[in-house]
Formats: sequence, structure tokens, C-alpha cells
Amino acid sequence: MSDLTPTPDRPGLHISKPSPNAPAQGSALCHCGASATATGDAQVLLLVQGWEANHGSAHAEG
Ligand SMILES: [Zn+2]
Repeated sequence: MSDLTPTPDRPGLHISKPSPNAPAQGSALCHCGASATATGDAQVLLLVQGWEANHGSAHAEG
């Protein structure tokens, strides 16, 4: 499995699901300094929603 962890050089949101039976894993690092991780399909979905609302594209244009 490749390392998809965001880094300061490549901020962003990364979701991985190692196998159909494994819980999804998500990690995010914003250029504003915020970071978050989540494990589990529902938790990752919440992470994505919160990220889109408050980070990522929410303030990438500004
Ligand atoms: Zn941010």
C-alpha cells in the first residue's frame, strides 16, 4: 500500500480503503495548518464533509 499521507508540500485530503472488508482511512492536512485523521467509513465521511466546509476548497480560492 502506498503512502498517501498528506505532507506540507502536498496538502490535501486523502482517503484509502485497503480492502473491501477493511474500514476506510482518511487523513487531511490543510495549508492553513489544520490536520485531521479518521478511521471508519462513517468517520471518514464526516471528515470529508467537515473538511470541505471549513478547509480545502472552502478557503483555497481566497
Ligand atoms: Zn484550512
